[in-house]
Amino acid sequence: AKAGGRNRYSFFSSEIESCMRARQHQERLIQEALKHGGFEVFYQPKVEASQKKIIGVEALIRWRDNKGNLISPADFIPLAEKTGQIIPIGRLVLHRACLDAHAWHQAGHRLCVSVNISAVQLKHDRFIADVREVLQETGVNPGLVELEITEGVLATREHGSQDALLALKRLGLRIAIDDFGTGYSNLAYLKMFPVDVLKIDQSFVRGMMVDHSDTVIIEAIIKLSKALGLELVAEGVETREQEQGLIKLGCTVMQGFYYCRPAPHDEVDKQLASGIAG
Ligand code: C2E
Ligand code: CA
Ligand code: CA
Ligand code: CA
Repeated sequence: AKAGGRNRYSFFSSEIESCMRARQHQERLIQEALKHGGFEVFYQPKVEASQKKIIGVEALIRWRDNKGNLISPADFIPLAEKTGQIIPIGRLVLHRACLDAHAWHQAGHRLCVSVNISAVQLKHDRFIADVREVLQETGVNPGLVELEITEGVLATREHGSQDALLALKRLGLRIAIDDFGTGYSNLAYLKMFPVDVLKIDQSFVRGMMVDHSDTVIIEAIIKLSKALGLELVAEGVETREQEQGLIKLGCTVMQGFYYCRPAPHDEVDKQLASGIAG
C-alpha cells in the first residue's frame, strides 16, 4: 500500500511538472510572438440592424503560430494575464486599433473601434500613461475609441478601477460594459462609473429562443439602458430569428456571426466599401 501511495504521488507530481513545463513553453512562445509579429488584430463589425449599416468594429486578437494556425484568445489570454504578458499584448492591440480607427476615419467612415481591456491591464500602474501615449502616437480622435471592460471588474468595490475609468473618460474615450448581465446582481456601480454602452452577453441572446427568462432579462437590460441613457449592443446574434426578436424588444445595434465573423482589416475594408454587412 505504501509503495502504491508513493507511486500515486509521483504520478501526480510528474503531471504537475509536465503541466508547468507546457506553461513555460507557451510563455516562451508568447514572448516570441510578441517579438516577431505573431499577433494579429481581427475586427468584428457592430451593425445597425434596420439599415444593415456597420457603425463600429470590435478588435479581437489572434495568435498565428509557426504552422500558420490561428489560436483563439481564450487559449492564451488567461496565461498572459498570469505572466503579465497581457500588458504588452494589450498595448499592441490598442495601438493597432487606434491606427486603424484613424485610417478608417480619414477614409471617410464614421466608425468606432472597440478594444477589450483585461482587469490586469486596468489595474496596472502605467495603464493610463500607456493609453495616453498610444493616443498621441496614433493621432486618433479618442471619441472613436471604445474600451470594453467586463462587468466583474467594475462590480468589485475597488476605487482604483473607478479612478482609472474616470481618467480614461477624461482622455475622451468611450467605455462599454462587456458581457453585461453575467457578473453581478449589484447594479449600483452603474451610478459610479462613467459608462457609455452596455453589451448584452451572448448567453442571453443564445437562450432567448428557448428560455423565456432570457427574454425577460434582455427586456430588463434594454429598459435599464434606456432609463440610464446608455447605448446598447446585443452580441452573439447568429440567426434572423434572434435579430427579429431583439428588434421587437427595442434593441437596434447587433454583433454576431449572422452579420460578420471576426476578420482581418482588409476584409472589413471590403465590407465597409460595399456598405452592407454580411
Ligand atoms: P468577448 O469580448 O466577449 O468577445 C466576443 C467573442 O465571441 C469573440 O470570441 C467573438 O469571435 C465571439 N463571437 C462573436 N459573434 C459570435 C456569434 O455570433 N456566436 C458565437 N458563438 N461567438 C461569437 P474570441 O475572438 O475568440 O474572443 C474571446 C474572448 O477573448 C473575448 O470575449 C475577450 O474576452 C477575449 N479577447 C479577445 N481579444 C482580446 C484582446 O485583445 N484583449 C483582451 N484582454 N481580451 C481579448
Ligand atoms: Ca468584448
Ligand atoms: Ca462579450
Ligand atoms: Ca466574454
